[in-house]
Amino acid sequence: VAFPSKATHQQTRAYNAALVLRALYEFGPISRADVARLSALTRTTVGDVIAELMADGLAREIGRGPSTGGKAPILLELVDDARQVIGLDLGEFRFRGAVVDLRGRVQATTEREVGGLNGDQALAVVHEIIDELAEGRRPTLLGIGVGTPGIVDASTGTIRWAVNLDWQDLPLGELLHKRYDVPVQVANDSRAAALAIQLFHGRRPTNLVAIKVGRGIGAGVVLGGELFHGDGFGAGEIGHTVVDVDGAQCRCGQFGCLETVASSRAIAAFATEAARDHPESILAERLAKAGEDVDDAGPGGARGLHLDDVRAALVTGDEEARRIVVGAGRALGQVVAGMIGFLDIERIVLHGSVASLGQPWLEAVRDEARRRSLGLLSRDVTIELAPTTDDLVVMGASALLLTAELGLAVGR
Ligand SMILES: [Zn+2]
Repeated sequence: VAFPSKATHQQTRAYNAALVLRALYEFGPISRADVARLSALTRTTVGDVIAELMADGLAREIGRGPSTGGKAPILLELVDDARQVIGLDLGEFRFRGAVVDLRGRVQATTEREVGGLNGDQALAVVHEIIDELAEGRRPTLLGIGVGTPGIVDASTGTIRWAVNLDWQDLPLGELLHKRYDVPVQVANDSRAAALAIQLFHGRRPTNLVAIKVGRGIGAGVVLGGELFHGDGFGAGEIGHTVVDVDGAQCRCGQFGCLETVASSRAIAAFATEAARDHPESILAERLAKAGEDVDDAGPGGARGLHLDDVRAALVTGDEEARRIVVGAGRALGQVVAGMIGFLDIERIVLHGSVASLGQPWLEAVRDEARRRSLGLLSRDVTIELAPTTDDLVVMGASALLLTAELGLAVGR
């Protein structure tokens, strides 16, 4: 491996611009002198970079700050809406897209149902969504970020395998870059969501694990302020960790994977089974209703209970629903305990459709994680629900792009 001996002039400029942008982003309004201090760049360099940013409309002067003896310094700030990013969440049944500004504030959204579409049709929908959102915004469009289920080579933007969309080795990043002529970032959805929590929600922890629990289960790991992808871009793929050696067969071929006991599909299947075994339960009542109502047949046409039914039964105090939800939470807690022991990360955030089961589920995850990890390690660990769940992947996809293009969110 040859190391580059000298950064090119252009690389240096981009790097300096990123340092200045980050100072404006995190500490603005701020003076040129303070930007120089924080970025460890010379005042001359900072002055040059700021002149360029102002010419590009990315920074502006907002008057003088308080004087500390001499002449009061002119303060600068980032122009939050100077650029827009399009973020996409390619969910299993629905694609969602949003336009956000540099602070992650949503300016427009759109979505399309995609259940049952094949690979090329699904790609056409991606174009449709971007076309709609980019309309009238092309001059200030900074780039496109995409979060998708499956294994993604984030360095090239190639989706190696997304089983539900029938995409294999699809160079999505390259295709979108050619079509729209802006930078594109593509990553796995769980990882994108972790970045959203890191950049837009809360205390900017340096280390964070965010676990998406829906039909699939995957974790995004942020280490030292940066997303950790793993050598094969499979870091955080915890859904196929075996938690029950005598368990049911998983769609991956193994038996007793976490997804077979803790995913939304598993919870719905257990609930359907329990409804049949316990005719007096609220679950049974809901199943009878589902049977009458043909329109209630879920995606794929399977007639049975859904996660929504389990949530509703749980709220009314149904014992069977509670037993199932606690069981699913415990199984996840078992795997979370392993992550705590291995990584010693203090903040674990849960999101995805299953997280909507709320407190009883969260408590089960916590109890089991605590019970199974060393007391010393688990004492300071917080396991919590994400502040919002709907837009995390869309926001994370935007965060991917902001991080790559402006150097934001990188650990200080
Ligand atoms: Zn599996």
